[in-house]
Amino acid sequence: MNKGNKLYEGKAKIIYETKDQNLVIQHFKDDATAFNNLKKANVEGKGVLNNRISEFILNNLSQCGIKTHLVKRLNMREQLIRKAEIFPIEFIVRNIATGSLTKRLGIPEGTLLDKPLLEYCYKKDELNDPLISKEHIFSFGWASEDEINKIDKITLRINDLLTGIFRAVGIKLVDFKIEYGKAWNKDTEEKEIVLADEISPDTCRLWDMKTEKKLDKDRFRKDLGNIIQAYQEVARRLGIMPEETNISEVNFGKTIPIKFKKK
Ligand code: 5GP
Repeated sequence: MNKGNKLYEGKAKIIYETKDQNLVIQHFKDDATAFNNLKKANVEGKGVLNNRISEFILNNLSQCGIKTHLVKRLNMREQLIRKAEIFPIEFIVRNIATGSLTKRLGIPEGTLLDKPLLEYCYKKDELNDPLISKEHIFSFGWASEDEINKIDKITLRINDLLTGIFRAVGIKLVDFKIEYGKAWNKDTEEKEIVLADEISPDTCRLWDMKTEKKLDKDRFRKDLGNIIQAYQEVARRLGIMPEETNISEVNFGKTIPIKFKKK
């Protein structure tokens, strides 16, 4: 599938058009950003790892009946995805209190939540993606009540599935962010709601089950170092990377050799 014009460039990804108006190519960059772009770095190899990890997870979700935008991975950095009209909402699920929840409400760090907590944020960089209620969503027409009811159910199901996928490899799913969009279904000839986001250590908080070591983007946000090693560790535990892969010293400017199992 040939890449056409660039349609959009975000903080971590670029979207290109294709000859098919319902399909686009998603390119994973190595750029890491935090605190709404205040902190930036190039983390060599991150895009390649997120592409593989996200492909693995979305394929697993798809096998469990979750509709996603992913058609197929094209190469080390690119995926063919369905073009989707994205809801301007970030859906956040929390299983353990940390991050903005602890800051905002003073909930002690690491508190295990009785049940998954679903939050909504308005996708608006200029406003730092503020927390919103369902009433805001309905008042301003960002999604209908019916759409949010459907998305809430899918999101909680995704949380169950992801919790299982990560638990099986000794990782606690602390929280994550996902986005949805409406994509054309050529069989039904209607638009349908699809998961339209990556799921990777950039978008999830992942803690080692035993040591609670952070295996996610908090290593970048909090200057903990060893970012690529942590992402590689996630890939290796998920069985995407062979055990014997050598991990180079983390060095933002250096090329990190990454070997993957052939499909
Ligand atoms: P928090 O609100 O605690 O900062 O983040 C909650 C969860 O959502 C974390 O897993 C975090 O990685 C994810 N998250 C929230 N906003 C964003 C965002 O704008 N980009 C990415 N990649 N992840 C986000």
